Amino acid sequence: MAEAFDTRAVHAGRQDFGELGVHAPPLDLSTTYPLRDLERATASLDAFAAGAGSAPDPIYARLFNPTVARFERALAELEETETSVAFGSGMAAITAVLLDARARAGTSAAHLVAVRPLYGGTDHLLSSGLLGLDVTWTQAANVAEAMRPNTVLVLVETPANPTVALVDIAQVVAAAGSVPVMVDSTFATPVLQQPARHGATLVVHSATKFLGGHGDVIAGVVACDEQTAKRLRQVRVLTGALLHPMGAWLLHRGLPTLAMRVERAQASAILLAERIADHAAVSRVWYPGATGGDPTGLIGRQMAGPGAVLAFEMAGGLRGAAEVLRRCELVTPAVSLGSVDSLIQHPAGLTHRIVGEAGRLEGGVTDGMLRLSVGLESAEDLWRDLTRALDCGHRVGRVEIRAA
Ligand SMILES: *Cc1c(COP(=O)(O)O)cnc(C)c1O
Repeated sequence: MAEAFDTRAVHAGRQDFGELGVHAPPLDLSTTYPLRDLERATASLDAFAAGAGSAPDPIYARLFNPTVARFERALAELEETETSVAFGSGMAAITAVLLDARARAGTSAAHLVAVRPLYGGTDHLLSSGLLGLDVTWTQAANVAEAMRPNTVLVLVETPANPTVALVDIAQVVAAAGSVPVMVDSTFATPVLQQPARHGATLVVHSATKFLGGHGDVIAGVVACDEQTAKRLRQVRVLTGALLHPMGAWLLHRGLPTLAMRVERAQASAILLAERIADHAAVSRVWYPGATGGDPTGLIGRQMAGPGAVLAFEMAGGLRGAAEVLRRCELVTPAVSLGSVDSLIQHPAGLTHRIVGEAGRLEGGVTDGMLRLSVGLESAEDLWRDLTRALDCGHRVGRVEIRAA
């Protein structure tokens, strides 16, 4: 019988420990490596230039680092993909995927289909024109109609940032036909969802979030098959978008507790979502675990649980939301998510500001929305903090409504 996820998370990426005679992952900070033999070195260089994940000699740290490679093996085990490729940030990982999509298009314009909402930075990168991409924005149910003969990539995020809307990966994969589908699975982590099982070619994480989990690493990773990884490694070598070994080491250190952290935070999120929905200051809650939050029944089928991030709408709109941010004491008003501590932020004003109003409306990002990433504090302590902040937000919001 295959080992349970928790067991694999503890032991992933430790295959070389016996040979190395170590008990914990070693941290190799070398930028360059002594070359013993020119022939062997040139063969290794050629291998890395062709996107190989390893070679007889490591040569130079932009080409290969054993600490990073060990984390990549560990993550691939948890995502159930052949391999993974780590980058210096989630955006660097997504940029590498987009650059490769562009290269695959050859001389014709690279057409992409993207489902809103996406993380604000991803949305902006696609819209910016920086990478010369032709993007059709659509909804998950309309991917098939958006496909063109020159479409090279389909992008979705599930749960999506910040509305935590779920996308049926298998349905999008079917609509995309032979075109690769990239799933940003940052909010789910491999604890709750393995997109490759449902046909995704590229599984992306901002490892800055739950994978790192302690708010001290900026990193990104793409879990995929070896053929795709070869191309992404070539992009990484060319652009230098590598993950620092210290980041990889911290990420690997966090994997054994990943399931525990996600499950504990999720249990608190379920409880808080229910109470927040009942609070007079709140007009709507977005959470896959809330009533109506999973209309197509993806929890159980695609995702093991609703996760630890939720969003809610202040009845008092922007003013009410701003007041909640001001009044939270235990919950930190800060962008980012998936940390040991709870974070709350205002998507329209912060993470999704760059998207612009039309894009925000299309993605369902409203002015009164707050996004809460639940951490590992006691749920009762969190509720005490939130309920006080919501009370304040309610009073301010009511003043605004009466004044209008
Ligand atoms: C944060 C985030 C990103 C970007 O990752 P960085 O590590 O900040 O570059 C991409 N996708 C999602 C869903 C995110 O939450």
